Amino acid sequence: MYEVLIIGAGPAGMTAAIYAARAGYKTAILEHGVPGGQAATTDMIENYPGFPEGISGPELMMKFFEQTQTFGVEMIYEQVQSVELTGDIKRVTTDKQTLEAKTVVIASGAKPRTLGVANEGRLRGRGVSYCATCDGFFFKDQPVAVVGGGDTAVEEAMYLTKMCSSVTLIHRRDELRANKLAQSRAFANDKLHIIYDTVVDEIVGDEKVTQLKLRNKKTDATSTLDVNGVFIFVGYLPNDAFLPPELEVNEQGYIITDEEMATNIPGVFAVGDVRQKKLRQVTTAVGDGGAVMHGIEEYLRA
Ligand SMILES: Cc1cc2nc3c(=O)[nH]c(=O)nc-3n(C[C@H](O)[C@H](O)[C@H](O)COP(=O)(O)OP(=O)(O)OC[C@H]3O[C@@H](n4cnc5c(N)ncnc54)[C@H](O)[C@@H]3O)c2cc1C
Repeated sequence: MYEVLIIGAGPAGMTAAIYAARAGYKTAILEHGVPGGQAATTDMIENYPGFPEGISGPELMMKFFEQTQTFGVEMIYEQVQSVELTGDIKRVTTDKQTLEAKTVVIASGAKPRTLGVANEGRLRGRGVSYCATCDGFFFKDQPVAVVGGGDTAVEEAMYLTKMCSSVTLIHRRDELRANKLAQSRAFANDKLHIIYDTVVDEIVGDEKVTQLKLRNKKTDATSTLDVNGVFIFVGYLPNDAFLPPELEVNEQGYIITDEEMATNIPGVFAVGDVRQKKLRQVTTAVGDGGAVMHGIEEYLRA
């Protein structure tokens, strides 16, 4: 019987685990990939305090992981498939076993939203990617496109300019949504070209991506762009496949919590990107992971 069972080893889950284990609770994290979550997929994190020169995502997440081990957090590398949360004893079923816990912290994060255009699924891993740090290297000295206009799209496009021959950023609006610093860096980068008011209608290629079919949203004019890779950053969806219907979520599926990260089910908490909030970043994931401890302690004491 775990006192605190955490689903997901991203920054939110690992922070919750550090707090819980340090407070003396029997704590485990269930993770179906490697620890670090989305933060481990980015080349450089410049806005996490304490690292004035910035730090690579994998390196920062390795430090988080090491800290969980300092306090004896048990890591269980299994995928959660379903949960029974309503009783005093919570049951979490993975692909291998069912675990019991007094409290459950859902920290399963988010996954990239797809464009939903022709051939996107078929060419995934063959030119279609959702992670520049993971796949950028395969496109060394080759032309690529990035779809999106927010912080992640612009920052990952900048990263790709370090290795690709050219990077075309395709954005459906007439101005970027990324923060001003990212924008000014993007505008100053000769290898980065931005196409506004444009959407991708189709990804073209037999074995691999060779071209994108584009459409200007204002004029309806169509065009093509020859690229070997397309990196898609158009938002995220919560990792909610295993969540039961009795857990309260908003219209996009994000879990609704109070300020102590408590959900509508007693003893069940949600932290990080999987919960309803305005800013999804490492700092806010860490904040959630710390804040949840108060609610857990009160619940366990009661
Ligand atoms: C490309 C990119 C760049 C970014 N750059 C920055 C940046 O510069 N600065 C910044 O502050 N933030 C950045 N972010 C955002 C930041 O990474 C996220 O806000 C943060 O990782 C959210 O943490 P989390 O722990 O809530 O979720 P996640 O990081 O998504 O972690 C969730 C974990 O849960 C696991 N999981 C999910 N479902 C299951 C299941 N059923 N069973 C077991 N395990 C499961 C996943 O494998 C994952 O490891 C970036 C994100 C991306 C994608």
